[in-house]
Amino acid sequence: MSIQRWTVGRCTITSILEEQLERIPPEMFFPAATAADVARHTWLVPDFADAKGRIALRVQALVVEIGKRRVLVDPCVGNGKTLDLEFWNQRQWPFLERFAEAGFAPERIDTVVHTHLHADHVGWDTHLDGDRWVPTFTRARHLYSARELAWCEAGGNPGINHVHEQSIAPVLAAGLADVVAEDADLGDGLRLAPSPGHTPGHVSLWVESDGATALITGDFLHHPVQCAEPGWAENGDEDVELARATRGELLARAATTGALFVGTHFPTRPAGRVVAHGDAWRFVPEP
Ligand SMILES: [Zn+2]
Ligand SMILES: [Zn+2]
Repeated sequence: MSIQRWTVGRCTITSILEEQLERIPPEMFFPAATAADVARHTWLVPDFADAKGRIALRVQALVVEIGKRRVLVDPCVGNGKTLDLEFWNQRQWPFLERFAEAGFAPERIDTVVHTHLHADHVGWDTHLDGDRWVPTFTRARHLYSARELAWCEAGGNPGINHVHEQSIAPVLAAGLADVVAEDADLGDGLRLAPSPGHTPGHVSLWVESDGATALITGDFLHHPVQCAEPGWAENGDEDVELARATRGELLARAATTGALFVGTHFPTRPAGRVVAHGDAWRFVPEP
């Protein structure tokens, strides 16, 4: 598979794919939606949905390169994790092979950003060494917000309760974790911004370089259809109203600024622009 890469000023963003699922009934993720509702937004076909209104979704990590920095964002589900969600339980994907094909080495990652601490955003932080979970990115600082960590430690991942034990605790124990502010300046034009609702301490990553801007979303939205239907809650949204407000605010800002919008779970062509369309927006992907 060809490697997808986008340029933002002097910065490069690369997608590392774990898995893309196709032909998903939309109500599996968006309880308020039907396939007919999705099919009305014909611009979603063929990249994001089929003509019957079934959607595609992806799990992918993004690597941001600027100068000598290599920042990994949201390292997917991982291999061999014990998760109550059947479609993620005990899986094996050639993720590290794809990571190497894209020209990256785990020991060259200097920072790992987590938009939030759901199972599909922290998985590759650890891998099995015999029967022990050990850190994968051994020279990286792994960033967590205090609120998100506290939420996770208090059992905030209902139904996926091994996340802390398998994917977070080994990183904390190795001394590779930093607790940072939800609006932390990471240097080199990289900046976290709070985008709460999906989880309490959810953040997104803004990238600015030479006058160009990009926004890596995390899960304040899951699919391009939510540009047209920003009111649609996703099953995992903890605080539905707050998630809705965050989504509207950040879609509006993306449209005004013309930032490259990189959808963490967007399938096929995950980076593009948000443009005004009727009384909401649509997503125009980059090639
Ligand atoms: Zn999530
Ligand atoms: Zn997710």
